[in-house]
Amino acid sequence: MSVAIFENTIEFARQQDETDPLAAFRDQFFIPQRDGRDEIYFVGNSLGLQPKQTPEYVLSELENWRMCGVRGHFEGDYPWMPYHNFLTEPMAKMVGAKDSEVVMMNSLTTNLHLMMASFYRPSDARNKILLEQHAFPSDHYAVESQIKFHGYQPAESMLLVSPRDGQENLNTDDIVQSIKDHRDSLALVLLPGVQYYTGQFLDIQAIAQAATPLGIPVGIDLAHAVGNVPLQLHEWGIDFACWCTYKYLNSGPGSVGGCFVHEKHHGNNDIPRFTGWWGHNKATRFEMSNQFDPSLTVEAWQLSNPPILSLAAIRSSLDVFESVGDFQKLREKSVLLTGYFEWLLENELAEQVSIITPRNTNERGCQLSLTIETKNQSGVEIHRELERRGMMTDWREPNVIRAAPVPLYNSFQDVFYFVKNLKELL
Ligand SMILES: *Cc1c(COP(=O)(O)O)cnc(C)c1O
Repeated sequence: MSVAIFENTIEFARQQDETDPLAAFRDQFFIPQRDGRDEIYFVGNSLGLQPKQTPEYVLSELENWRMCGVRGHFEGDYPWMPYHNFLTEPMAKMVGAKDSEVVMMNSLTTNLHLMMASFYRPSDARNKILLEQHAFPSDHYAVESQIKFHGYQPAESMLLVSPRDGQENLNTDDIVQSIKDHRDSLALVLLPGVQYYTGQFLDIQAIAQAATPLGIPVGIDLAHAVGNVPLQLHEWGIDFACWCTYKYLNSGPGSVGGCFVHEKHHGNNDIPRFTGWWGHNKATRFEMSNQFDPSLTVEAWQLSNPPILSLAAIRSSLDVFESVGDFQKLREKSVLLTGYFEWLLENELAEQVSIITPRNTNERGCQLSLTIETKNQSGVEIHRELERRGMMTDWREPNVIRAAPVPLYNSFQDVFYFVKNLKELL
């Protein structure tokens, strides 16, 4: 990519939007309104916006149910029986996996538990899980409860990695060293793809290359990574990954999550697993036998027939991503858009605003996490005032404002006006 020469003028931002090859995608989303104007929506990392075509996708399944009842499982343009398979190819492409390695099912924390049932198999000698000191709370609780479930002590079995003193971000070398230091006691490594608080994009491949030869399984939580940064899960050789679809995947609140299990584990009946009928070999599932015959793909981990209305919203969203084409195009815009945001903050607000997200574009997605120094207002007051002006960010204790310009629907003008308003406030 060429080095961009940025300018702090509305004309420049407007011109960037005019020459942006993805600018038209904004019009495919409903942008929430505030005082008759579009909000500046930088919280797509929390809940992505609704594609305008999503109601049609969901309504067509309600229609199919209304008209066909139970026959909808086999009839209509998108029969429900194989419905999750309509999502497999675009989803697998986006995470860099084979089709056999990806399935949409359950929700994120549920899938973390199902994956740990299979890949956390502690013994007295080897029962530790490596995770971050400040993991997303749900991940922390899931790990803690798994350790207790197996009869071990969280205080001893949770190996927590933190940034070095005075630093905000994790250091890959430190993680790798920690894996090596605990090679005989580690039973699992569970880390995020993109850290939710700082926006750091971890070097997943380097972590997998350290753990895998030592026989330590690696699981990655992609909640903030999927749809945000390029991923190559198959090639990186990690064992499993889980993600949600309501953040950068724009599939609606609480929508069904995604799960990856590397093909090296498919068909291995020595791996323990919590099972349900939807994981049974499709060819004979309806013979209703008591003998579980697992699918030979990641689908062996499915439990239930999935909620079709949610899958319909995911299918709509994935169709939007498909129409962008190569994910790299989205990434290029994202690097430029967040680069502009970073440049404006540094040029206009360097004294009051610090960016804790890594400055190297390969180590972050679209989000910048900001700490704000002010004389008479607190960070949380600034955040509230921004919101009153229709500028949506989120506040994370103790003192961070997270702002995520999403390349599918945010514009260079959004970034320009956001920084202009923030400067006025400060
Ligand atoms: C958003 C998020 C979750 C949310 O979990 P759900 O089970 O979908 O409610 C969990 N972990 C991380 C890292 C997240 O960012």
